[in-house]
Amino acid sequence: MLSPEERRNAVTSAERLEPTPELLDELRRKSEELEPASPREVLQWAVGRFAPRLTMATAFGPEGMVILHMFAELAPDTPIFNLDTGYQFPETLELRERVKQRYGIEVEFKRPELSVEAYEHLHGGPLYKTKPDQCCGERKIRVLHEAVRGMHAWISGIRRDQSPDRARAAIAGWDKKFGLVKVSPLANWTKQDVWKMIVDHDIPYNPLHDQGYTSVGCWPCTRAVLFGEDERAGRWSGFAKTECGLHTLDEDK
Ligand code: SF4
Repeated sequence: MLSPEERRNAVTSAERLEPTPELLDELRRKSEELEPASPREVLQWAVGRFAPRLTMATAFGPEGMVILHMFAELAPDTPIFNLDTGYQFPETLELRERVKQRYGIEVEFKRPELSVEAYEHLHGGPLYKTKPDQCCGERKIRVLHEAVRGMHAWISGIRRDQSPDRARAAIAGWDKKFGLVKVSPLANWTKQDVWKMIVDHDIPYNPLHDQGYTSVGCWPCTRAVLFGEDERAGRWSGFAKTECGLHTLDEDK
């Protein structure tokens, strides 16, 4: 298995994928063709079409864990990274170690330039309390732009039934915001499908899910959800914000 450094070296060329009409047409056709396919088949297509310029960002949520499990079998050398904002739960950080033990896959931490201490000092306190969009923009989105440089496609764990915003996600589409093809193998899966696979294959997961945290992000912006609430209701509770900006829809399908 290649080290993160070796993988990076393999794709250092600045060659970018351009959203030509031919590519957009290919994605539209492929997306339709893959609608009835299993997540594994979608992932297999993505690996064959885009590796070694295929990557995935994961926050170690249930969907990410299921895809990691499939990657371990299909393409364990795929570079997978975590946006470590400095505000993650210890349980999330520990899950990275469990992934390494179980699959031998080293999820690479991608971090912002400034430590949490330096960042909060610069802004006179934590920005997540007052300007979460700026905080996500600087501690996640900017880091993500850097992390996907040289890549042509990324895998996302979003499901259409997670939110109205995600309901329009294509299996494969052009992600304008990041200049990448975005492939969502679990688009047609339900929460039950994901958890069934976790249980059936004894896939490691974040223990916070057993404490009512249906979606886990940074600790200041995550709370457990109450009975009957939307599964993402615990994210940025009290703000109109529902997404950190990674998966707001901005695709040419
Ligand atoms: S989720 Fe909260 S703490 Fe994390 S980057 Fe966004 S605003 Fe900051």
